[in-house]
Order: sequence, then C-alpha cells, then structure tokens
Amino acid sequence: MTPAAAARPRVHADLENLEYRSWRRFLWSADRWPLERIQQYQISEVRRVVGLGYHRTRGYRALFDEAAVAPSDIRTLEDVRRLPFVDKEQLRDRLDDFTMDVAERTYVTTGGSTGIPFGMYRGRRAFARELASKAHQYGRVGWREGDRQLVLRGLSIDAPDHVELVERFQELRCSSYHLVPESMNRYVELAHEYRPLWLRCYPSAGCILARYLRETGQRLPPLKGILCASENLYDDQKALLTEVFGARVFSHYGHYELAALAGFCEGSDRYHVLPQYGHVELVGRDGRIVDQPGQLGEIVATSFLMDATLILRYRTSDLAVFGAWSCEACGRPYQIWDRIEGRLQEFIVTGTGRYISMTAMNMHTPVFDPLRQFQFHQERAGAVDFRYVPKGPVGDAALGEIREALARKLGGDVELRLQAVPEIPMTHRGKHRFLVQKLPLSFADL
Ligand SMILES: [Zn+2]
Repeated sequence: MTPAAAARPRVHADLENLEYRSWRRFLWSADRWPLERIQQYQISEVRRVVGLGYHRTRGYRALFDEAAVAPSDIRTLEDVRRLPFVDKEQLRDRLDDFTMDVAERTYVTTGGSTGIPFGMYRGRRAFARELASKAHQYGRVGWREGDRQLVLRGLSIDAPDHVELVERFQELRCSSYHLVPESMNRYVELAHEYRPLWLRCYPSAGCILARYLRETGQRLPPLKGILCASENLYDDQKALLTEVFGARVFSHYGHYELAALAGFCEGSDRYHVLPQYGHVELVGRDGRIVDQPGQLGEIVATSFLMDATLILRYRTSDLAVFGAWSCEACGRPYQIWDRIEGRLQEFIVTGTGRYISMTAMNMHTPVFDPLRQFQFHQERAGAVDFRYVPKGPVGDAALGEIREALARKLGGDVELRLQAVPEIPMTHRGKHRFLVQKLPLSFADL
C-alpha cells in the first residue's frame, strides 16, 4: 500500500449508490417512529412479501396451501404465526421454488457455519439496503461514511504484506488469515501512518491482535470505536477489546438471508432488532413465541429486503435471549435481545445430555495466558478435545490449572482431552472458531 494515497479525500463509494442513499435517509427519518407507526409499517411489509411468496413462487404457495393459509388471512402481526416455517434445508434443496423470476439478481453463497452451506439470489437493491441498514446502526455510535477504518476480516489480499488500502471505502484492509507477529507488526506500523478512527473486525481476529499488542506493549492510534460483526461477541472478548483499544465495542447480529438485523445503541450493549429490515420472532422449543425476559428462543425472521429468493418465517438456527419490548437507554420501542447465544453449533453436549453454550465458557482468566490460541472439538456427546497452540513450553502445573479451569466449566459429565497442536486452521472465511461441533444438534434437544 502507498500511505501517501491516504491523504487524498474522496466520497465513500456507497454514497454514489442512489439506492443506498435513499435507504439511509429513510432509516434516519424512521429512527424515532413510535410503536404504532412501526407496527403499521411491519404489517404492510409482511403482507407485501407474503403476497409475493404466494403469487410468485411455487415453494411458498405449496407451503401456504398445505397449511391452509392465504395471504388475505394475514391482517395483523399475530397472524404471521399462522404461516409455516421454512428452514435452510428446504431452501437449499429447492432454491428455485422459493425464488422469484426477476431480471437483475446475483447468486450468493453463505459461509455454511452451521454445516449446511447454501446459496440464494438477491437483487442489487437488497444489497444496497443491507449496507445502508448496517451503516444506520453504526451511525448510532458516531460512525460516518468517510471515516478512516482499519479492517481486519477474512480478506484474501495478494500483496506481500497482506495489506491493501481501499480508498473508495476509506479502508486499510488487513487480512485475518495472517495474524502472525511479523504481519501484525506491519499492520500496527501502517495503522500509525493511516490513523484509522474505527477498527472493524471479526471478534476472534480483533482479540488475536489485542492479545499480541498487550504482550508486546504496542498500541494502535486512538480509536472512536470497534465495530464487530459476523461472529458472536462473547463477554470476555468485549472486555479484552475495550481494555486494549480503549474504545467502546459495538456489535450487531446479521446474516446472509437479510431477514434480521440487530445492533447495540448509543447507550446500551443489547441487541435492538431493526423493525424496517424484517419481521423477527423468537420461537421457543415448544413452538411458542418467546416474550419473557431471560427466555431463549430461535431467531425466526421474515425479510423485507430480499427481492429474489424470498425469506419468509425462516428458521435461522441462531438463538437469542429475549430482553424487552423497548430499550430503557434510548427509548426505541424495538424488540431487545440481551444476548445472542450463537448458533446451535456453538454448544457442547455433555454425557448426560446437557448443552453448554460457548458464551458460558468464559476464558477471561490468566490461566490461559501460556496459550496463543485454542479450540474445542467435539465428535461424540460427553467428550471434548481442547486443542491449543502454546506460546512456548507449558509446564505440567500450568496444564493442570488449565484442565481444572475447563473441567469446572464443563462439569463432571465431560471427558476432556488436552492436545497441543502446532496451529489451528481457520474457516475458509478467515474466522477463528472456538468450537468445531461435529454432532448434529437440534433446538428441540436443548
Ligand atoms: Zn437502546
């Protein structure tokens, strides 16, 4: 990269997209809608997409007919519960049946983090609105198009130093595939020249950099904030990022299906479900709607954005803990989630059939300091491999402490095996997974 180029200001590329700009304005104008206005908007959008599903796709028509529900039956938001669910397998196996025949559409594939990779079609408008919706949420913590950003995500960058300056987006992009000391030193050096205001990262990648900076006594230039996405943000990660980078961490939940988007607000680290993006329900194991604080439910969502493959009452396999129907800090009357429990594939299954969420495996203790990285592996219920990359030689006493700390979290019904490995491979998207779960899990088993 050429640092001199950084001095030349230019318009953020997204602002050249009319659809992006108009959606950004719309969301801004709708930011303080009262509950009644939100509900009106939601029901009118639900009716619109249900009508499209019924009249313009074979798949939804067949599902609705089978459930004996017609678009005209959907008059209130409660009526949405009459619609049948659709899941990943159905969409993957019969994608054309759930897709409208529209001219401009692109085929996109998901990361397959649940072990079910699949693709779908979306139009240009959907993607522009998606970007504008995320920008809108970032705007709550002061982010603006044109702010310089250090980006640390799964980017394959050909340059020898794995860094690329993308002026169109004011982004200094660093690859998360190369988080080794030599590259990280280079990232930090360039960050001091570029002076980013924001760090945008996968939590896992941000934490590897944070631990390295702490160990080597280095710092990044002062940041306005850290924008995390694409992975669940655990409390211990948030604590580490806040401590090392000295700025607030902003997180949001989103997915490729563009049906649910939920982010923090100006004053609260809870997830605010954006009502102009989709209609979102949390559904409990018994199939009923979750609406009590502290209850866990599966995120089921109907997209208002998807304009080719339609996403209606879609079971995401992602789990969230319900918080409230409005936020005390900002006053928005949005559905609030206390936390995301992550994907079903982020649970460990014990010998007696208990499910332990990775959010409960808090690793914020000095016991793990001798390790550079670690990862859990599970292939059969009740047995877990803990694979770790040591920073240097790890003595028996230190290993004993690690084993003890893990056993305390896991309980007596998990057989634990510690295994030193030279490296821990990333996913093909450059993410560092805490748990590789090979067991097929179902929410009904939780
Ligand atoms: Zn709020």
